[in-house]
Amino acid sequence: MIQFNHVSKWFGDFQVLKDINLHIERGEVVVICGPSGSGKSTLIRCINKLEPYQQGQIRVDGVDLADPELSLSQLRAEIGFVFQQFNLYPHMSVLENVTLAPLLVRRMSPSAAEDRSMQLLNKVGIPEKAHSYPAQLSGGQQQRVAIARGLAMQPKIMLFDEPTSALDPEMINEVLEVMKTLAREGMTMIVVTHEMGFAREVADRVIFMDEGEMIETNTPEDFFHHPQNERTQLFLSKIL
Ligand code: ADP
Ligand code: MG
Repeated sequence: MIQFNHVSKWFGDFQVLKDINLHIERGEVVVICGPSGSGKSTLIRCINKLEPYQQGQIRVDGVDLADPELSLSQLRAEIGFVFQQFNLYPHMSVLENVTLAPLLVRRMSPSAAEDRSMQLLNKVGIPEKAHSYPAQLSGGQQQRVAIARGLAMQPKIMLFDEPTSALDPEMINEVLEVMKTLAREGMTMIVVTHEMGFAREVADRVIFMDEGEMIETNTPEDFFHHPQNERTQLFLSKIL
């Protein structure tokens, strides 16, 4: 579903991604962790072409992102992206936030888009908030709306960039539970997170990044119990 072959990227003189090789199968759940500034966000932003890269090849569902025929809007319709900051439209109701893209991009009829959005709000556990505005919701509820919005286009891939980092501790679990459900339903997911409980429970693989490199990739079991690399060990000793 996602392939990085020898991908490198620079910001000016600074090499932010160093020879990334990563193959993710359909239905796989991959957790990426690592210190701040190690290139995690940059790596996942490359997948929907929010960031250009200078070397190597990225393929998403078989399509080379360098293909000049590639439609950006089609690519992004297939990839849901959930950020640390929820980025909901403040002047729109919850339902309108979720319905917007299917209406505009998929050109669904308003009633079909609304039905589907209500199903998604049910799925994330807040159908009663459909007519509220983002400011009236808690952080955990806003993030669940953001997940529903990400799912509205029926994406093949969901990318999460530290989705619980901006949340108060008591709201983290309600968001992780929604993500675990998605993972168990077979969604292909890349999740940048330091929530190691989540990684243990649903990740197929955990990747440790440092200074733009994929230092270690392993099953959660081996990653936590037998980390191979010294830098991974040091990182784990700080966060666990
Ligand atoms: P992480 O998500 O692991 O914290 P990032 O991918 O956000 O790391 O950033 C990796 C490095 O790239 C950091 O040193 C950051 O300062 C730098 N960086 C990120 N975005 C830009 C940019 N647009 N221009 C220049 N440097 C950037
Ligand atoms: Mg980041």
